[in-house]
Amino acid sequence: MIDTSPLETEVKKLIQKTGPMPVWRYMDLCLSHPKYGYYVSRDPLGREGDFITSPEVSQMFGELIGLWAAAAWNAMGTPMQVNLIELGPGNGTMMSDALRAIRVLPPFYQAADVHLVEINPVLREKQLKTLTSKKAVTWHNSLDDVPQGPAIILANEFFDVLPIHQMVKKATGWHERTVELDGTGKLVYGMTADPTPQFDVLLPPLVRAAPEGAVFEWRPDTEMMKMARRIRSDGGVALIIDYGHMRSDAGDTFQAIARHSFTDPLKSPGAADVTAHVDFQALARAAEDMGVRIHGPIEQGEFLKRLGIETRAVSLMGKSAPAVSATVASALKRLTEGGRGGMGSLFKVMAISDRSIPTLAGITDTPEAPPATSRTEKPEQQQQAASDDV
Ligand code: SAH
Repeated sequence: MIDTSPLETEVKKLIQKTGPMPVWRYMDLCLSHPKYGYYVSRDPLGREGDFITSPEVSQMFGELIGLWAAAAWNAMGTPMQVNLIELGPGNGTMMSDALRAIRVLPPFYQAADVHLVEINPVLREKQLKTLTSKKAVTWHNSLDDVPQGPAIILANEFFDVLPIHQMVKKATGWHERTVELDGTGKLVYGMTADPTPQFDVLLPPLVRAAPEGAVFEWRPDTEMMKMARRIRSDGGVALIIDYGHMRSDAGDTFQAIARHSFTDPLKSPGAADVTAHVDFQALARAAEDMGVRIHGPIEQGEFLKRLGIETRAVSLMGKSAPAVSATVASALKRLTEGGRGGMGSLFKVMAISDRSIPTLAGITDTPEAPPATSRTEKPEQQQQAASDDV
């Protein structure tokens, strides 16, 4: 017998009542339905949960992010008070490791007020436990609720859980992909009868040239705009780490993961983590429109190596028993290498800063270097970055 998740029943009822729903709405319900949403009702993370993230792979990740934040604080001119903000902190592991690392830098440690933006009450509890012996922490539902002031914002695997729109290219134009019911009452994909007017006007040429049947995914810029607006007005930096692609391109990346395996996103809504790749070019464009400086994106493996992960691994291995040492070695590989199971090249790192900050540790490595996106992808950005007058 096939189990029907409570959310599946809800989704079907909604479709019967109001017709097919966009993939965007379906994904939003899967993640954030007030009662049955995946991120509202459960603890998804870690070896026991459905998936594992970089901070859960090794303490080295959070430690290096902490040191990165300290370097950013220096680049900001060492303000007396700074909001150290994390979006979607999961178990609180990254912030916990980061705070331990920055403890050795008392002026920064004391200047930092920790703010966590989290919508999942189960995870808030976990974060409270993980961070209990550390600094005072304040929780918020949205970045907009965090008090004003210079900010260092961290977001690891936050953007991939934000709902996507999927568009399907047909001879008639780009149609919004929907979720609907087939004759047997099963959830299946469909699409709107009419194309979205003028949809291709703002598309990058690579996507516009996609063949018929291609799927293009996009997210509203809301979260990036909030972030960039704050950085521009209050000063500071934001670091975004996620899996995805450097350039906007066509491709269906909507996926569901439960118990560490891929499942069909239309099966058991609310019981699996549904995500989609992050389009870093789209993020960079949205941030740039807000007048902030873009750094990167670069691959996670390269970023962590530049921050000294290999040295840190050797030092941890030197102090540990052989079994622990082997775990550190395999974590180093997983975090920095590409290939199956590797997070080093699938994951990308991008930062934004207010325009007074020309370089950031690990991403922009020489003062003269224009942002990596500009060099490789968007010549028009380079000119803007060089003019430095926003
Ligand atoms: N950064 C953590 C967790 C990643 S999972 C890690 O790397 O381990 C995504 C996180 O974002 C979870 O904590 C989830 O509850 C949170 N989240 C999802 N949607 C959110 C939203 N709209 N606002 C704030 N947090 C959100």
